[in-house]
Order: sequence, then C-alpha cells, then structure tokens
Amino acid sequence: MANKRLFGTFGVRRRANEVLTPEFASKLAAAYGTLVKGQVAVGGDTRTSTPMIKHAVLSGLLSSGCHVIDLGILPTPAVQYAVRNYYDGGVIITASHNPPHDNGIKFVDADGIGIPDDMEEKIEDMFFDENPDRVPWDEISEVETSDIIDEYIENVINRVDADAIKDAGLKVVVDCGSGAACFTTPYLLRKLGCQVTTMNCQPDGFFPGRNPEPTEDNLQDLINAVKNLGADLGIAHDGDADRTICIDENGAFVFGDKTFALVEKYMLKENKGGLIVTTVATSQAIYDIAEEYGGEVIATRVGDLLVARALKENDGLFGGEENGGLIFPDFVYGRDAALSTAKIVEIMAKEKKPLSKLIDELPSYRSEKRKVECPDELKVEVMEKIAEVTCEFEVDTTDGVKILTEEGWVIIRPSGTESIFRCFAEAKTEEDAKKMAEWGIKLVLEQLKS
Ligand code: MG
Repeated sequence: MANKRLFGTFGVRRRANEVLTPEFASKLAAAYGTLVKGQVAVGGDTRTSTPMIKHAVLSGLLSSGCHVIDLGILPTPAVQYAVRNYYDGGVIITASHNPPHDNGIKFVDADGIGIPDDMEEKIEDMFFDENPDRVPWDEISEVETSDIIDEYIENVINRVDADAIKDAGLKVVVDCGSGAACFTTPYLLRKLGCQVTTMNCQPDGFFPGRNPEPTEDNLQDLINAVKNLGADLGIAHDGDADRTICIDENGAFVFGDKTFALVEKYMLKENKGGLIVTTVATSQAIYDIAEEYGGEVIATRVGDLLVARALKENDGLFGGEENGGLIFPDFVYGRDAALSTAKIVEIMAKEKKPLSKLIDELPSYRSEKRKVECPDELKVEVMEKIAEVTCEFEVDTTDGVKILTEEGWVIIRPSGTESIFRCFAEAKTEEDAKKMAEWGIKLVLEQLKS
C-alpha cells in the first residue's frame, strides 16, 4: 500500500535500535493499544533485540490502558494461537528470516490474523500525530505472564494421528536455526515418538549455526546430517517458526511448493474435498491435485496475510504458499511450522513411504525465477503497457500480469521493496519454464525502451 508510511506487507521490520528503538516501539504499541483497549498478548523470537523491544511494547500497551500478557519467547503461530483462543489482540516481536541485526513488530487482531490495512493506517496517524491514549495512573495494569507452549504443542498433536506416527518410529534431524522453534519442534516430535537429533536448537540471537532463512544453501549442514545419520527426514524452520522446509531421506532439499502440494493432497483426501487458498504465483500442481481430490482453489495476491484472510472469509480448508508456509485455518490463521511438521510425519507414517517417493507421486512442473531492474517511478507505466501488449493471451491480473499459454505460465510483478520486476515461470519442462521466464523479462525490457 503506497499510502502506508511504516507498515510493510505484515508489520514493521527495521534495523534494531536504529529505526526500531524503544521509543518507536513504545509509541507504536500505544497507538495499537488505543484501538484495542483490551487483553493483549505479547511474544517474540530469539533475537538479541527482542527483550528490549518487547519491554517497550509492553510499556506502550500498558500506557494506553491495555491489560498485557507476556508469553515469552515462542513461535509466531503460537502467539496467534493464544490470541485467537484467549485474548483481544496480540503483538509479535520478530523479523522472521531476516539477518540478526533486524527486528520487527507484527500486530494481530482477536482472531490472530495480521491487522487490516485501515487499522494500520489509523495506527500510523496516531503515531505521527502523537495522540495515543494515555490512561490515568490508577488505570495502569500489571504485566501477567503465561506459558502457552505446552498447550500449543498438545493441540498440534491432537490434530494428527499420533499413534500411527509413534508406530512408524521415524528418525528425524531437526535444525531450528537457533530460532523460536527451539522451544517447540524437538519436543513435539519426541512426544510423537520420533527419534530426534537436534542441531542449532539452542536459542541464540546471533544465529551462529546458520542464517535464519531456510534456503538450500543455508541448510547444507542439515543435508549432510540427514545423509550421515541415515535419517528419514530433515526439518528446518525460519527464525520465527512459521515455515517448515523438508530434506528427504536422500538428503535432497524439498521445495516448499512440493510440501504444499503433498499436504494439500492429504488434506483433501482426509476431508473429502474442500476449499484451498493460495497465491497466483503458486504451482499448477495445486490445481491438478484439487481437481483430482474434489477440491476448489482460490488464488489471492502474493502474501501470507492475504491467504489467511481469504481462508477465514471463505471458510477454507487449507492454504499455503510456494515458500513452504502452510496455513491450517481451523488451528491458526497464519503459517504454522509445528502443525506442518506434524502433518508431514503423519503422511509419511500412514502412507508407509519415504518422503522422496511421496514427492515423486505428485504432479511435476519445473519453475524458473528471474528478476530485471526497473526504476520505481516507471513500474506502474511498465505494468500497464505489459497488460496492453499481452491482451491477446489468457491473462490473470490478480497481482501483476500472469500470462497463461499451452506451455505454462509466467507472472510478471513489480517488487514492493526493490527497484525490480520479478518474473516467475512454470512449465512441464525446464526448457519451457526458462523460455517463459525469458519472455517475461523481454516484455519488461521492451516496455522500458518504448
Ligand atoms: Mg517467518
């Protein structure tokens, strides 16, 4: 949203103690507290700056008259779970997969979903006009603490076939990247009877073992550990434990869209159909599986928050993104790494097949991601021209322009944060995917010249 001054796609994310100072955090939280005026739960990830920012947030909330509950260090979805079940609002201190010097503040509503744009704009107005409510001295509450993690883990276990998982006795290597999952995933998998080996499962805001973003490059130690230990599965999370990435029994990195498709297939089978929500940048495999197993698909603009909202509004069954973020709306209205992990081991246990085999059975597509530079001020014009010159094709303009052909599709979108266009293509063969992506790049360059 161009008119938003502080918030990105989901919250505020900045360098800790430069822009994101205690003063900034406290005032922003007071503005949020002014709108909520109720019981607000606060939690955060393992970053070095999280305690500092959290205390400022607690002060701001108390000052505006909220009753606050400190949930400690825990995954983002565990805060969302707590808020949905017990509180009027929530604040999460996290920068997800960003480098250690960053931190961020996410606000959620009483359902645990990221707050809507109009509420963000109200918070910004109050922030800049300096008029959050400040209650009189005798209306300031105390800080309550609450430990929700055990309950959260129990509720994840209740949503899967724990006996089947226990019988399978799977050998799993878990790499939490020293992030918030240190407090959940190893315990969850042990309770489910898995043989767990941990790495980077000591909480540490310097992220000494690896970068908090679970990319293939960053997960080489996990890949080696899975191979060397002869494990059935490797599991990795991002810093705030809302995303799960899998390594198969051969040490192969499983792309997020594959995990999404695998879980989609079993959710649809288990529930005999249902509504799936994803973004326009997600694989055709999601549609193929929906067709085969009685599902229906809605595609939103890119962003996990938009998927979560569409799931709630349409009473959807399951949703996700191609980056490995899966949403189970009857549990948490946001990506949840713990339930994703439990679902994946459940599928392996019940199907009695190795992960590589389960992935091989899914519809197969190849994708290609490219980017091309474009000055910010020209983005709108370039986008309009691309829409004009591609009108002879089948196009979807939910987010940017997605062109669909016999061979596959390419989506061309301006980046919201960088001076680039992203071209993401998918086809049955690698050659076609590359061709489609090239075509997207060419379209951007041609409009830039004209
Ligand atoms: Mg995250």
